[in-house]
Amino acid sequence: MVIDSPPKVSTSREIRLTAAQAVRENRLWQRHVAMARIGAIPGNGVNRQCLTHEDIRARALLISWAKARGYRVTVDDIANLFIRRAGLDDSAPPIVTGSHMDTQPAGGRFDGIYGVLAGLEALEALDDQGLQTQRPIEVVAWTNEEGSRFSPGAMGSAVFTGARLLEDCLPVTDLEGIRFESALHQTLNATPSLERVPFRRRLGAYIEAHIEQGPELEAKGLPVGIVTGIQGSRWFLVKVEGESAHAGTTSLRARKDAVRSAVNIISALQDMMHDGDDQVRFTVGRFDVTPNSPNTVAEEVMFSIDFRHPDAAVLETKAQRISEISKRFAGPCKATVVETFNRAPSAFGADIVGRLEQAAQDLDIGYQTMASGAFHDANFLSEVCPTAMLFVPCERGISHNPAENAKPEDLAAGTRVLTAALIDLAGTV
Ligand SMILES: [Zn+2]
Repeated sequence: MVIDSPPKVSTSREIRLTAAQAVRENRLWQRHVAMARIGAIPGNGVNRQCLTHEDIRARALLISWAKARGYRVTVDDIANLFIRRAGLDDSAPPIVTGSHMDTQPAGGRFDGIYGVLAGLEALEALDDQGLQTQRPIEVVAWTNEEGSRFSPGAMGSAVFTGARLLEDCLPVTDLEGIRFESALHQTLNATPSLERVPFRRRLGAYIEAHIEQGPELEAKGLPVGIVTGIQGSRWFLVKVEGESAHAGTTSLRARKDAVRSAVNIISALQDMMHDGDDQVRFTVGRFDVTPNSPNTVAEEVMFSIDFRHPDAAVLETKAQRISEISKRFAGPCKATVVETFNRAPSAFGADIVGRLEQAAQDLDIGYQTMASGAFHDANFLSEVCPTAMLFVPCERGISHNPAENAKPEDLAAGTRVLTAALIDLAGTV
């Protein structure tokens, strides 16, 4: 399903340009620098995992910037944070932009936070030009997009849109046994004066700005990518059960070696996943061996599969074969496959994508349309309102890594396109 009926309002090209040109590259860059200090780790990286003290400090800093401008700041029961610039018709569903502020444990300075800071910069650009919009515009920071501390990711946007229930998230624990529920309370208690807003509010539209996390834009020298959709994801856990045995005394023939079987399974899966046009994304990123001793034949292996593709049919056909192949290549061991995540590809609406393209053309900013390889909060939003995304290049496509880097001028170019599209959607009259 594609939701594609953005509000019927309009803004003249001149006003869109005026707003976009008020975006200040240096202000936007300095805010990234200030945020990157919170949870800074060696190598220019950031460790600001969701609902940690660092996350709470980042939220406080964002709130202080928002309040300095007089914006209304609200929060919902999963600590999604909203900064609202009022509209002339303030009861109209808001036009929303934003992303997330949490990072991977060894994350970078731009993933997520760029979308939040670009949104704030857009609001300030409108203020600086004294521009009023018909509809309110809100900047959102979604809770727990990364899923590194509490799995799965994108909890905030999933719960907001009704795709998940808050109650189902509360018992999730991190590696230290801390419940999502208690980390959430701690975060919400840090901002007791913020007004609570409900989940599933009606939104007029959602645009998420993000670094590309891939190498395409940089390679082509383009400052902006306009995203037409997000590829689908299927995640699995494969358990291979064998029998532990002495590495010196047990003959190869007599073994039920879980590592050997797991390696055969992975190799067969890689063959099955191979495609000529290199569209499939297939990753075994976690491989846990029990008992994990150099002198013991492994009793059990647990490995993860992250499989993604933009085409729903390919995703379905190949995912269906994972269990069968795992069993067939398990040899003397037993393989069990459990699916842990299933997300269909999202296609964004032509109207809202078109508005972003128009904004880039008006501003004479080079762009291309593209699909997103990574998962984003926009996946969930696309089910409840017209949604699109906007990418800016990042150095060599490196992300989820302290070396993640982006250029101030590209961040500003993306924010200019965002600002023009937001005022277009919010209307001025
Ligand atoms: Zn992100």
